[in-house]
Amino acid sequence: MIVLFGLFLIPALWVLVFNMERECPVIVVESPTKLISIGASKDVVISATDQKRGLRKIRIEIVKDGKQTVLIEKEYPKASFFGAGINKDTLNITIEPSKLGITDGKALFRLSAWDYSWSRWWNGNTTAVDKEITIDTKRPEIDVLSGTQYINQGGTGVEIYRLSEPCEKNGVYAGGNFFPGYSGFFPDKNIYICFYALEYDKGPGTEIYASAVDEAGNIAKRGFNLTIKDRKFRKDSINISDAFLNAVVPQFDIAVDPNSSNPLLDKYIKINREMRVANHNKLKELIQNPEKEMFWQGAFVSFPNATNKASFADYRDYNYNGKLVDSQVHQGIDLASLAGASIPAANKGKIVYVGDFGIYGKMVLIDHGFGLFSLYGHLSSSDVTKGQIVEKNYTIGRSGKTGLAAGDHLHFSMLVNNVFVNPLEWLDASWIVNNITSKINDAKSTSGSK
Ligand SMILES: [Zn+2]
Repeated sequence: MIVLFGLFLIPALWVLVFNMERECPVIVVESPTKLISIGASKDVVISATDQKRGLRKIRIEIVKDGKQTVLIEKEYPKASFFGAGINKDTLNITIEPSKLGITDGKALFRLSAWDYSWSRWWNGNTTAVDKEITIDTKRPEIDVLSGTQYINQGGTGVEIYRLSEPCEKNGVYAGGNFFPGYSGFFPDKNIYICFYALEYDKGPGTEIYASAVDEAGNIAKRGFNLTIKDRKFRKDSINISDAFLNAVVPQFDIAVDPNSSNPLLDKYIKINREMRVANHNKLKELIQNPEKEMFWQGAFVSFPNATNKASFADYRDYNYNGKLVDSQVHQGIDLASLAGASIPAANKGKIVYVGDFGIYGKMVLIDHGFGLFSLYGHLSSSDVTKGQIVEKNYTIGRSGKTGLAAGDHLHFSMLVNNVFVNPLEWLDASWIVNNITSKINDAKSTSGSK
């Protein structure tokens, strides 16, 4: 009798304990990490887990004004007597409130899960989670405040707009490049100012528009009254001499084929192509987080008493012994004065980089705020330090011929975000008045702010 008791009752008790586990299933929103609002269309990833007997059922619904709308209800196959059933499931759902007849406003996002435990008279353990959400299917409105505009190929533009609601991401798309807008310049926090640029090789017909994405993910796009003026850029041809190669190439650590018949020339071509690209990629990293304050005021200043040696967007052919060996586009202007002449900061800003920088040699980079930067290359020396705020005309260094430079000169570039722009616009006081200051004033009068 005792033996029989042991033979049947102990396993039976074990089966009962095993199946009557009290661990509740877990159901969570994996993505977005914080689900607080749902726009016209929202992708949501949900995971459900039950480590012991496995999942029995899950249900996801939206409760709005007392009405339940089931988004998904799923039942899972029953677990075997001793083994577990389905322990984990991940669900991807796209929620489109208007298609479900759900109107805008506050709602509950309800997640429920049941498991296959025998507890609670075979009903299983249950988990129910309610999240407070807002249904917002309306796009933000973009009210353009700056008037008619002109932008040159390779030039800069400014766009000022008011948003109807807070939008973390807003700005201007110009030829596929995104330029963020900045709040805080105008007393009304909903008014944004955005400096944007058109690459030198993008002419009339390029799409330029303002865009804003609200918290719920609704996207608004808005064009504005803008004319793109095309520009023809110069062609230049540079003869590379052996003396020049021997003067500039050795400073760079670059490897070429050991059997090369002209290692100096091969190294030079590699520097001019690959290092140039690598330097520009690194430059994009340096300018990723512009200052959210507009430091600059009035026209930018140039290298005094200097002569212009090369222009913005010059298409340069490089010839060696009469043979074309490379072609590149010059993304700045070259200015030459006396050797070792002092270089002024073009306008007020914060030093973001000082030091060696590949083809640019010793380089200083200034952040003028709202995405505008100035770059000074080939310097012989510099006393400024990273993080220092410099005023317009403050001496940031001395001219030189470090990096890829044949003679003492300043290479001066300007960038709006990661797009090189024609610096001559910024050096021209009347261009600033006509294209920047007047647009800011337009916005002030249309918005009523001072
Ligand atoms: Zn240059």
